[in-house]
Amino acid sequence: MDNFDAQHLWHPYTSTINPLPCYPVKRAEGVYIELENGQRLIDGMSSWWASVHGYNNPTLNKAAEEQLKKMSHVMFGGLTHQPAIDLGKLLLQIVPPSMQHIFYCDSGSVSVEVAMKMAIQYWHARGKASKCNLITIRSGYHGDTWNAMSVCDPVTGMHSIFGNALPTRYFVPSPSCRFDDEWDPTCIAPLREAIEAHHEELAALILEPIVQGAGGMWFYHPQYLRESKQLCERYNLLLIFDEIATGFGRTGKLFAWEHAGVTPDIMCIGKALTGGYMTMAATLTTHEVAHTISSGNPGVFMHGPTFMGNPLACAVACASVSLLLSSGWKEKVAAIEAQLKRELSPAATLPQVSDVRILGAIGVIEMKKPVDMASIQKQFVERGIWVRPFGKLVYIMPPFIITQSELSTLTSALLEVVKTLR
Ligand code: PMP
Repeated sequence: MDNFDAQHLWHPYTSTINPLPCYPVKRAEGVYIELENGQRLIDGMSSWWASVHGYNNPTLNKAAEEQLKKMSHVMFGGLTHQPAIDLGKLLLQIVPPSMQHIFYCDSGSVSVEVAMKMAIQYWHARGKASKCNLITIRSGYHGDTWNAMSVCDPVTGMHSIFGNALPTRYFVPSPSCRFDDEWDPTCIAPLREAIEAHHEELAALILEPIVQGAGGMWFYHPQYLRESKQLCERYNLLLIFDEIATGFGRTGKLFAWEHAGVTPDIMCIGKALTGGYMTMAATLTTHEVAHTISSGNPGVFMHGPTFMGNPLACAVACASVSLLLSSGWKEKVAAIEAQLKRELSPAATLPQVSDVRILGAIGVIEMKKPVDMASIQKQFVERGIWVRPFGKLVYIMPPFIITQSELSTLTSALLEVVKTLR
């Protein structure tokens, strides 16, 4: 392979002058990513939470091939099609029953933009246009587009670069109470105080329920969601759950809201929606939000992307969600969780490790110091695994189809490398 990639192709979060090394992939199948040089890597990332069924899945391939023969795309303005309807019916069976209206989007970030626009248009339609700001917790991540970025953690996010160009949001500390610790009631105080002080300008609270992903890989207590919901009800804020990373079984529940039994007014899903085949997301909401927007002025929701409801993506998403539901995902994720606890927890005693946490099919080793991405990745590849850490976080979220022995290979290679870090 020539140097074209390094010279011309921009990769995520990398430099054009001194790009991080990139490994050319020939194909991928099941949990294996095969490099051009023939080396096979066990995938620990599910291509950023997405490929829950592994790669090159025959059921998903067939769904794509069959849909291709009919049409890969038609505009969604004024037209509709069976894949969009079938997917909608399937989604309504698995999301909270209050979610009744579905807006298909092209990516997770867009679905977050759509969720925020819905919240603001809702209050506009109710004659409260001053309720147009958002509140969230630190260490969050909601995407890289403008408004999604504005609610990402202001330090690990991109606020320092974009500064005043970003809308200013309200931030409170991320809940310090761990997922399985005893609930500490003081944990909710900063959110309560901020909402009490600013509710007249707040349209919504946006949270990644239970698992904060790319902003810190932190798992917090379900009671935080229950108390957040009460605050939103008391002070008239909509509650937005970003389930883009947590959705479709990853945390051990089909969606993370189920850990707390708290349902949002608006919910974003994406990533594993198409089993990692192509980009697609959705923003779902209640009758109350949708009908209020629709009865206000201008009486329509102001968003409509070119590739909305893409039939190819809808058909693959239908196949992926059906496959997930019939695959015994719950037992698989529980088995992965138990194995991660057995195999990764011993790392907690290493002097270079500050914390190990596991929830569902997510295993996180937090180091005391940031890791050198290029060198650690090289060591992972040499040992036949694909793991991409960031900052102090070395973490895995493998495809659900991983076998016990493949997962053992992944965790033991991971630990070998972690032990070499200083
Ligand atoms: N929200 C969360 C919680 C995410 O993890 C991500 C993607 N990492 C996004 C939103 C943005 O999704 P996308 O990359 O598809 O725009």
